[in-house]
Amino acid sequence: MNPLVSDPFVDFLLRDVLDVDALCKLPAFKSHSRETIDPWFAACRRVAREVLFPSYRAIDSEPPRFEGGRVFVHARMHDAWRELVGLGAISAVSELPLTVTTLSSAYLMAGNCAAYGFAGLTAGAAHLIEAFADEQLKATYLEKMQSGQWTGTMALTEPHAGSSLGDVTTRARPTDSGHFLISGAKIFISGGDQDLTENVVHLVLARIDGSPAGSKGISLFAVPKRRPSTSLGLNGGVTRLEDNDVQVSGVIHKIGWRGLPSLALAFGDEGNCHGWLVGAPNQGLRCMFQMMNEARIMVGVNGAATASVAFHESLAYARERKQGRAIGNPDINSPQLPLTEHADVRRMLLRQKAIVEGSLGLLGLTARYADVAMHGVDEAEKARAKLLLDLLTPIAKTFPAEKGFESNALALQIHGGYGYSSEYLPEAWLRDQKLNTIHEGTSGIQALDLLGRKVVAGGGAALMALREELEVELGRAKFDVSALRSAADRMVELTGALGARGASGDLDGMLGHSSDFLEAMSVVVVGWVWTRLANAVASRDDDFARGLRAAAQYWLRTEVTRVPALATLCESAERSYLELKESWL
Ligand SMILES: Cc1cc2nc3c(=O)[nH]c(=O)nc-3n(C[C@H](O)[C@H](O)[C@H](O)COP(=O)(O)OP(=O)(O)OC[C@H]3O[C@@H](n4cnc5c(N)ncnc54)[C@H](O)[C@@H]3O)c2cc1C
Repeated sequence: MNPLVSDPFVDFLLRDVLDVDALCKLPAFKSHSRETIDPWFAACRRVAREVLFPSYRAIDSEPPRFEGGRVFVHARMHDAWRELVGLGAISAVSELPLTVTTLSSAYLMAGNCAAYGFAGLTAGAAHLIEAFADEQLKATYLEKMQSGQWTGTMALTEPHAGSSLGDVTTRARPTDSGHFLISGAKIFISGGDQDLTENVVHLVLARIDGSPAGSKGISLFAVPKRRPSTSLGLNGGVTRLEDNDVQVSGVIHKIGWRGLPSLALAFGDEGNCHGWLVGAPNQGLRCMFQMMNEARIMVGVNGAATASVAFHESLAYARERKQGRAIGNPDINSPQLPLTEHADVRRMLLRQKAIVEGSLGLLGLTARYADVAMHGVDEAEKARAKLLLDLLTPIAKTFPAEKGFESNALALQIHGGYGYSSEYLPEAWLRDQKLNTIHEGTSGIQALDLLGRKVVAGGGAALMALREELEVELGRAKFDVSALRSAADRMVELTGALGARGASGDLDGMLGHSSDFLEAMSVVVVGWVWTRLANAVASRDDDFARGLRAAAQYWLRTEVTRVPALATLCESAERSYLELKESWL
């Protein structure tokens, strides 16, 4: 049975690297301890392995049906949803440390990303309401969403406004009754309709009439599919729901995450779609951005989880499948060897392990900074955690997605010709994984954010904090870390040079190679993670510790050594595509 994610690795990460016991001493988490966290993990692992994963292939093979204007999900999605709600997958997110839910949700995502998608989206939408809505809205929506009676969506994207959300044109007209009349078209809205629950609450970005153009004029609204018909008072108690003029205008035929419908939605075609403001007018993007670190970490978790389940599948396959003989053995009568005996297969397995566990380590550390930034008691420690969180987030989102795709391709490759058939699962996870480089800000947008903002903000304060954290681990290491130390120094030097170029007005010269910069920074950051993981098992000599040391050595010797070439490329501002004319293509 595929474990989806390695229990020994996650337990080690929580205890020996992330020190979750210390985290539980913060006042915000004082009701938690190993006594609550261990059963939580046990429950997540059970639901992931016994409910979500067994239904994965069936749900992937038969996407939701769109009939009579309504969307019907796979019958087994109903069981999955019931179990996820019963588990507390929606409500737990607001109670447990993010460090914990980051790792526990990896199991659920690895089991069935589409099924978990409903819970993750509902938790995200509920969190926005909890953080920014007024008391009446909270009373109407929060409990219904957190208990799984209603689901939630994020309705941001429009046909002409994807990466560029400042171009959103969905309209919100004020009325005298407290609500706004919403009209416009959204696209790709995941979970935008379903037959799991009686209602869906869309968190919609729209522009109030008269608001400024661009991102400064966008507001956030709660727009239910069916609106509560009576004034509810502060104690909630919805009595009747009526249609709120939100129509499904089309279904996206996706290549992955096929159990979760992504839809085109029409709001207010009949002029009767009510929306309620969440947060202050024109602050919609600011509200979304406050949740963005978390949302991006969760996309990274999906990248790690999707790579993880495929890694474990290919590892089991490579142990069992026998093919060929050792190099130099001409005896055709000798038995064939398991794939794991071939060095090139071990290369692919070790690379997957380095990507998967390096990603989980990175996500755990990033989530821990988020917990301390939000709930720490020491102001200086909080500020430092916030700096590191902001810097690490684009990397924690992009590295597991981009390298996870490569890792998923290796899992398929290890299956040989069988991997290229739909009889085996790696092809499905490869399709699922691709989305993670696209949604919640494409990799290209993350790269611009990292180089254009995060590393240069505050005179490079976050980068210097990261360099200090790295130095602590380098100082502890009992193995050769010289390549990582010099790669990190090179990145600091490069950032200074590119920042100066940008300050002089040469933005192309600064940002032209932002994707290469993101890749180089990611390799260094994951080198820091691997050094930290290897340091944490320095005194052990069992197979688990040897495996971590092998992966750390692999990363530092084969990946980190490529950083100088990438840095030179960024600094050279090589201009092939900067000067390219579209007509030359
Ligand atoms: C399966 C799926 C589910 C989704 N679910 C949701 C959802 O639930 N809610 C929601 O609101 N949206 C959702 N989305 C939409 C998703 O967030 C967008 O697809 C994404 O933001 C990219 O927007 P776009 O598709 O318009 O691509 P574009 O923005 O047109 O980008 C196309 C390419 O151009 C590049 N590019 C764009 N602008 C720039 C720039 N300024 N500089 C450099 N490069 C640039 C991008 O990196 C990308 O490679 C979903 C999408 C998919 C595919």
